[in-house]
Amino acid sequence: MTAKTLGRNLEILEKYRKYADMAELRVDCLDPDERLLIRRFPEQTGVPVILAIRRDIDGGRFIGGEGARISLMARGLAYAETDRRRNFAYLDIEEDLNVPSLEEAARTFGTRIIRSYHNIKGTDADLSARIRSMRRSGDEIVKVSVTSNSTRDVLNLLCAGKECEGQEKILISMGHHGVYSRILAEQFGSLLSYSSALSETDAPAAAPGQIEVRELASLYHFRSINKNTKVYGVLGYPLKATGSPHFFNTVFEMEGNNAVYVPFPADSITDFMEIAKELNVEGISVTVPYKEAIIPLLDFQSEGVRTIGACNTLTLTPQGWLGTNTDANGFSDSLLAFLSKSNFKRQRITVIGAGGAARAVVFELHRLGAKVLILNRTVHKARRLAAPYKFAWGGLDEQGIEKMEKYRDIIIQTTPAGMEGINPNDTADDPAAMYNFSGREEVMDLVYKPKLTTFLKRASNAGCNVQNGYDMLIRQARYQYTQFTGKEFPEHFFSRVQFGEI
Ligand code: NAP
Repeated sequence: MTAKTLGRNLEILEKYRKYADMAELRVDCLDPDERLLIRRFPEQTGVPVILAIRRDIDGGRFIGGEGARISLMARGLAYAETDRRRNFAYLDIEEDLNVPSLEEAARTFGTRIIRSYHNIKGTDADLSARIRSMRRSGDEIVKVSVTSNSTRDVLNLLCAGKECEGQEKILISMGHHGVYSRILAEQFGSLLSYSSALSETDAPAAAPGQIEVRELASLYHFRSINKNTKVYGVLGYPLKATGSPHFFNTVFEMEGNNAVYVPFPADSITDFMEIAKELNVEGISVTVPYKEAIIPLLDFQSEGVRTIGACNTLTLTPQGWLGTNTDANGFSDSLLAFLSKSNFKRQRITVIGAGGAARAVVFELHRLGAKVLILNRTVHKARRLAAPYKFAWGGLDEQGIEKMEKYRDIIIQTTPAGMEGINPNDTADDPAAMYNFSGREEVMDLVYKPKLTTFLKRASNAGCNVQNGYDMLIRQARYQYTQFTGKEFPEHFFSRVQFGEI
């Protein structure tokens, strides 16, 4: 609870009550006068409350001296009542703060001590030793909240937690890299997860990376995650936004699967694969920029991955990680449905781009009988992609664009150009700006956010039929669902399952 007044915190708690099991009152966020009134707060909430007065060096707002902070803690614990629900249930005391009398008073009235360590700059290397040595008595809960600057940091925290299995503790990997530690608290060996009412602008997140409380409870079904929950997720970087958790978690819920799907932003795939092993992850969707880089880490791969050279789906099998590519079928199903066709015979098609997605597209176009021209900014990549199929190729320059004259039944845009959140300073958001649409082309853009890229808008304005990548996204995810679970996608749910805000 980070609002400035106790009254406002109570209002917020009331609004989000059904999503939260406990509250932490961050006294340092309260206005100075309000801080004097904290004693009555627990009895007004109806949930167990943690008393925390976070210093600025630990990421909080308390800038007074330690004496003043200790007096405030004492104020919170004063006149303890025998009905424990009227007292603070927990007192958060930093490991470097030594106040035995306060701790003794807390214990006497059933307030448990959370012995905390915060590092807002990074993740310490020796965390397991720290976790083991922090407790001053056996009934304390150790809390380690450290900032992750990399996937390696998250791995360090996870391993430290595993080494201290059986000990009551709270582990938090603050920041974007560790966002899944907040969902998979159970798997990280953490007693609880901190969350915020982020849509309340006057109650900001108490720490970086916190997930909105409703999202944590509803989208990720946080409360039903247990040791038996199967863990899936999407691996990418920076992975600031993804709609996949919404899609998969909705299907899991509708199907009654004890499974959760989370975002796995990772700056190192080798470190991440260690994390995946520790967390018993069973299936991974792979997105930008790892669809190619992941291949050497696979134990075996499908024919499609071998030919396409890109993998977007990892499934854990008894023989290890199997890599498949569902973009390929997702793409062709989507384009065929859009055109009401069963193959691409006699179709002359231009593919713009020669990256991972383009390779899946070209593989399918070849399989389904099309004649293809591949145009790419870096020409040699277009040539390399075209060679095994004996397709035409060129650059995204005048000469290349001229070649499109003979390959314009269908035009498929496969680059991230024009995608929201990519290259904000890059003005080249239309990769084929020199091409003039006749209005007769069928045009598909693999990008789905925004719904209409500059390229697709131009095509639509010229009178072309256009389709963005959303339908493909859904279709490839349905194939992933089958890979992950071994079950057919429940088609009767299809109209009800959508990707979230992406
Ligand atoms: P990638 O492997 O990084 O490929 C990037 C390709 O785009 C390269 O050919 C690159 O050219 C080209 N490119 C990048 N920026 C460009 C620009 N400003 N102008 C011209 N060309 C540019 O990425 P990817 O995995 O193929 O993904 C590409 C896009 O497809 C992404 O937006 C992704 O979200 C989307 N996608 C959608 C779906 C779906 O289900 N709808 C599935 C997969 C991918 P150079 O070789 O010259 O660098």
